[in-house]
Amino acid sequence: MATNRTFTMIKPDAVEKNAIGGILKMINDAGFRIVAMKYTQLSKETAGEFYEVHKERPFYGELVDYMSSGPIVAAILEKDNAVEDFRTLIGATNPAEAAEGTIRKIYATDISANAVHGSDSDENAEIEGDFHFTPAEKH
Ligand code: UDP
Ligand code: MG
Repeated sequence: MATNRTFTMIKPDAVEKNAIGGILKMINDAGFRIVAMKYTQLSKETAGEFYEVHKERPFYGELVDYMSSGPIVAAILEKDNAVEDFRTLIGATNPAEAAEGTIRKIYATDISANAVHGSDSDENAEIEGDFHFTPAEKH
């Protein structure tokens, strides 16, 4: 079922670069409504659990270390066709391959420290949003 919601994180590299404001402006300008949002830091354990689907991939350990290395912003976003439109807005995983004008093209450092997360399906958007927010926090 299409939920019209997606889940994002502004990752530690983008927070470190003072890019929170610029990224949130791009998100709002693209027509997404912020349903829930928090500034927080993931423990290694929480980051490991969030990225559990990538456990067998060679970059998993590095990804968990990186995602728990500093503060992040986690948010649930709402818009028609949210998951797909947000993936378009953020661009390819590797910023070297990301389209001009995308968030990753503008703000990402490299394929690992790539500025933002975006859910890849409606199902995962719901799972990931529920991982970070209680029902009462989702307005
Ligand atoms: N990642 C990495 N090396 C890679 C591929 C991915 O460090 O070769 C990291 C990167 O931070 C990416 C995350 O793992 O955003 C999840 O990977 P995925 O393939 O799901 O990319 P995404 O959906 O974030 O574009
Ligand atoms: Mg992914």
